[in-house]
Amino acid sequence: MPRKNPGMAGGRRETPPASFYGALRGALRAWFRAHARPLPWRETRDPYAIWVSEVMLQQTQIATVIPYYVRFLEAFPTLTHLANAPRERLLELWSGLGYYRRARYLHQAAQHLREKFAGRIPSDYVSLRALPGIGDYTAKAVLSIAFHQPYAVLDGNVARVVARLFALRGNLHQPQFRRAVEGELTQLLSRRLPGDFNQAMMELGQTICLPRAPRCPVCPLRKRCRGFDSGDPESFPLPLPRRTTESHYLAVALLRRGPRVALVRGLDEGVLADLWNFPAAFGPSLMEARERLREKLHLLTHLALSLGEPVADFRHSITFRSIRGSVYPVEGCRGIPREAVRWFDLTGLPQAAISQLARKIVQKISG
Ligand code: SF4
Repeated sequence: MPRKNPGMAGGRRETPPASFYGALRGALRAWFRAHARPLPWRETRDPYAIWVSEVMLQQTQIATVIPYYVRFLEAFPTLTHLANAPRERLLELWSGLGYYRRARYLHQAAQHLREKFAGRIPSDYVSLRALPGIGDYTAKAVLSIAFHQPYAVLDGNVARVVARLFALRGNLHQPQFRRAVEGELTQLLSRRLPGDFNQAMMELGQTICLPRAPRCPVCPLRKRCRGFDSGDPESFPLPLPRRTTESHYLAVALLRRGPRVALVRGLDEGVLADLWNFPAAFGPSLMEARERLREKLHLLTHLALSLGEPVADFRHSITFRSIRGSVYPVEGCRGIPREAVRWFDLTGLPQAAISQLARKIVQKISG
């Protein structure tokens, strides 16, 4: 049972001695050696493979990433393979993983490294940070794991563990809290094995120090955890303010020629810009979205196409957009100019670089 010690949770705190950090580090290291999950990117020190894993893991669950990571590295075993690949192939392999900008940046960065760094991943922070799609977190993760450089990485899981260990109040949007967490994390970092340390902290946050109901009784750091001592570890850190969800309506056009359907790049308003989608338009109501779709089809095809009665309704979420929509069949598809759309065989669509929404619509209209 946690020991009640509310005095630890607020006000001025004493800086722990170096031996305190050393003991935490030792306990964490021993636990990680015994309990680390066998994830595919832990079987390599290849900076390229580690970079790919870190990009895929941004905002995506480990279980989702694993099959994508394995397929991706089979298709592009080296940075040069990736740089030389057509973007379409990259997007096909990324399809379903979400946040497609990551794939585009990965490709651009690989091409830049092929031209400027002879296909190698640079081992310095400034060069890595200058690459498209590599932020502070990814640069430090790659440098610590692949190049053993003493950078501590801070994500939501790690921040939660540190906030609880040192009973720090606040959330990551607050600069003072962030500085306090970074300060403790820097003290705690293993200079000798920074990559293992970072992975161990993330692992602890993902499997033991959970956001709800942390598994303190089996935690290797329990004896020195001030959050546990406080009797209420879940109260650290404070929750992040929630981003409000926006409601949108989407009208989708179904243009068919026998077994083929017409798709265009992007959805609407710059959303899913890299992927193939059914022609569609957003609107503040379904009626307005439908009207905008009609205008959009006219601009696209130079034909006065008419929309029939909806053949399917759907709900879908894309980041903070909560979408309700309908699919409208379109008459008179024979005269559509060749360059206006791309025709895909409906049965081959699941292998193409289409969005999750397009996948959902295919299921609806095929069912
Ligand atoms: S003892 Fe509990 S609160 Fe503290 S780090 Fe471990 S799981 Fe988290």
